[in-house]
Amino acid sequence: MATITTTPLAIPLTQQQYIREGKPLLWLNPYYQQTASAPNKPAQGEIYAADDRLRRFAPLLIELFPELENSAGLIESPLLATQQLHRTLNPIGGRLLIKADHALPVAGSIKARGGIHEVLCFAEQLALDSGLLNNTDDDYRKLFSNHAKNIFNQYEIAVGSTGNLGLSIGIIGAALGFKASVHMSADAKEWKKERLRKRGVEVIEHQADYGAAVAAGRAQSEANPYSYFVDDENSPRLFMGYAVAALRLKQQLDEQNIPVDADHPLFVYLPAGVGGAPGGITFGLKALFGEHVHCFFAEPVQAPCMLLGMAGEAGSEPVSVYEFDLKIATDADGLAVGQAAQWVCDAVRDEVSGVFTSYDQTLYQHLQQLHQQENIQVEPSAAIGCSGPAMLNTDQGRDYIARFKLKSQLNNSTHIIWTTGGSFVPDSEFQNFLDK
Ligand SMILES: *Cc1c(COP(=O)(O)O)cnc(C)c1O
Repeated sequence: MATITTTPLAIPLTQQQYIREGKPLLWLNPYYQQTASAPNKPAQGEIYAADDRLRRFAPLLIELFPELENSAGLIESPLLATQQLHRTLNPIGGRLLIKADHALPVAGSIKARGGIHEVLCFAEQLALDSGLLNNTDDDYRKLFSNHAKNIFNQYEIAVGSTGNLGLSIGIIGAALGFKASVHMSADAKEWKKERLRKRGVEVIEHQADYGAAVAAGRAQSEANPYSYFVDDENSPRLFMGYAVAALRLKQQLDEQNIPVDADHPLFVYLPAGVGGAPGGITFGLKALFGEHVHCFFAEPVQAPCMLLGMAGEAGSEPVSVYEFDLKIATDADGLAVGQAAQWVCDAVRDEVSGVFTSYDQTLYQHLQQLHQQENIQVEPSAAIGCSGPAMLNTDQGRDYIARFKLKSQLNNSTHIIWTTGGSFVPDSEFQNFLDK
């Protein structure tokens, strides 16, 4: 007998049954555009503040990571047209693009956006407080010095992760001179741990899930006054780093002469774990495009934590997937999360159009198609957005199209699959993915 949850969830009972049985579905968010459902809305100005901060650090980042020279120190990914994939993946019309965050430099995943921004927030404050920088107009390349490293080295940066956030925090933390400690959950891949250890990052392995790794990291960090904990479950700094992606995407759409307006709706399909990355990007996109952008989150059938979180009431603790008898059994390590971040749910509950779920087997099929048809190498989690356009072709998807009167604009629509990780995956590992 399945557990009956007592928390009211805005999910039709038939769909609750699907969730329990681990079957794919598209859930439409009844709180979409209901502002009272998101009582914790950050200020939009913070997106621009985060963008300014990343630009202040750009000259320093070129010193630390020479691969950023071509992008003037910005950590950004291309917006790619699809060569063939639109024929297989898009049954509903319009153009299909890929936002290629799997190829984000420095960290090789979407975590480069949020994770690096948060570490730079901490480093900037320390540098200003200690006199390393006189003010925010100073030359940030001063931080590329032994003097700065000696100061930063007195501090530790700690994080709990399923892999990619640890990579991002560890790489930037160690590059700046911080001690870096990464608490990895049991599902984290061995090559990610190796990559960090090679850079002098301390990797602490846990035999439990992501939530437990975060809790252990948080406790250990709190006991050390010189430790700064990057809290994936509660971090406006991560969130705003992700939100900056919207400003960059808008510029890329403008450059490619792709309009977003009432006649040209934009649909975006975002892989979701604890919620910060897709939540931050949605927050940014909504600030720029309002009702003309439609953001859908994507999760494994075994870990639909954001679906359960968004379907909960404002201010309530998100229901965990364990309450639905699910086991987080998925190869999509960045998405293998049992409980959503409440902070994020209360920030964007009114902005997310819906959430869909996929089998791991579907991820592997799409991973292979991305490889064969577009020559793109992603990890399984990063392929999950590929089901997005087909989800709009289901009964629920057609309901959504009808409700928002989008049918006649579908031929002018733009669909963006956000691929979120994979360019660092070793070849042998990638071959294993293909074999599956
Ligand atoms: C972390 C991650 C996500 C989702 O980000 P959250 O902030 O956890 O929701 C998506 N894809 C990949 C590859 C990731 O590593």
